Amino acid sequence: MSAMTRRALLTTTAGAAAGVAVAGCGASDGSHSGAAPSARRTGEHSGASGARAPSTTVRLIGDGSTADTGPQPGQPVVDRLEPGQTPPQFVVFSWDGAGEIGNGLFPRFRKLADDHGAKMTFNLSGLYLLPESRKLQYAPPNSPLGASDIGYLADDHIRMTLDNLRQAWTAGHEIATHFNGHFCAGAGSVGRWTPADWKSEIDQAVAFVTQWKTNTGWHDDEPLPFDYAKTLVGGRTPCLLGQDNLLPTAAALGWRYDTSNPGGNQTWPDKMQGLWNFPLQLIPFPGHTFEVLSMDYNMLANQSHAATKSDPRNYPYWRSQATASYIAGFQRAYETNRAPFYIGNHFEDWNGGIYMDAVEGAFQHIASLGYKDVRLVSFQQLSDWLDAQDPAMLARLRELEVGQQPVGGWKRFTGQVPASDATGAAPAAGAAAPVPSAT
Ligand SMILES: [Zn+2]
Repeated sequence: MSAMTRRALLTTTAGAAAGVAVAGCGASDGSHSGAAPSARRTGEHSGASGARAPSTTVRLIGDGSTADTGPQPGQPVVDRLEPGQTPPQFVVFSWDGAGEIGNGLFPRFRKLADDHGAKMTFNLSGLYLLPESRKLQYAPPNSPLGASDIGYLADDHIRMTLDNLRQAWTAGHEIATHFNGHFCAGAGSVGRWTPADWKSEIDQAVAFVTQWKTNTGWHDDEPLPFDYAKTLVGGRTPCLLGQDNLLPTAAALGWRYDTSNPGGNQTWPDKMQGLWNFPLQLIPFPGHTFEVLSMDYNMLANQSHAATKSDPRNYPYWRSQATASYIAGFQRAYETNRAPFYIGNHFEDWNGGIYMDAVEGAFQHIASLGYKDVRLVSFQQLSDWLDAQDPAMLARLRELEVGQQPVGGWKRFTGQVPASDATGAAPAAGAAAPVPSAT
């Protein structure tokens, strides 16, 4: 059944629209900062990024679990890099799972972002909106009905998660997906899924988000203020497995990017099967000769061999090492090729919560630098910017290797981009500027 035929088009009044926004700001955690400041460091965000949507109508969708409330608030102006200019430094903080289980992590990082006019990507696990009493509704590929490697949330935690999702979207953050059952091993691993399996998984993730009222019976609660079937344009697979077979399905669905690739470096992104490929990236790992992927799990694997409760005497060093690693990744990109920098995390309390502190510390460090050309954005916003660029300019930027500064400085480097076709068509392969020999 298509999204359109599922949809009951219920147009309500402006009063209902305000009701949605009020509910979005009424969290019991008290952490929401209301209208967030505009992005001082980027100068790129329009208006008050935390303000409610200016829509005058709310169109409830389906059973009223979600609603079309108009354009998302807090979105940046998309500009175009001109020849001779220095590219902005994009940084994307992203969260896998995005469930709130009463430990305050979701509101903690929403507040951190909102306090600095930053936007983030929250990869929601669809099962986090399905009550355990209804778990047989989930039919994971190659696993029994209702199976899940991440369990199910208690009902009050589903409510907390819904509340955080409402506020996150209203503040301009992206709600993407981490899919559902998070199977990383054995016969049921997502690494073995076919494109058809991914289609089933995605359809179910969308269903859990768009039919939570039916599944919970909470028909009087406020809807999520977005049309998930339309706004969902990317995600990250569990354990970074299965991208090859996900991509054809994602492309057919019109998704715009994928962040599941584990083999990334700090270089400018390119497309794979029509989607922007935003991999986790290898970044410096202070104290080691090798590098580490920019994600909490990979720090954990290297520091405590994946044990989540190690000797607490190690925590202070590991915390500072993880923080320094993220900062080093940022600094390397900022000072050299300006490749967009991606950090991926879960809401977790591994090793006493040191990885949460590390992400916050790195974020605070980056924000405290006050660089006007640093943009803390979601993956969707990064996709918007990339899609608006001259393809010849992006090809030029991709010539720069990890840690490579532009030869002759930025003015000269981007100034040598050949004039693109006035129609905006991508240049033919091989038409980009020659690759400099410097390495
Ligand atoms: Zn995960």
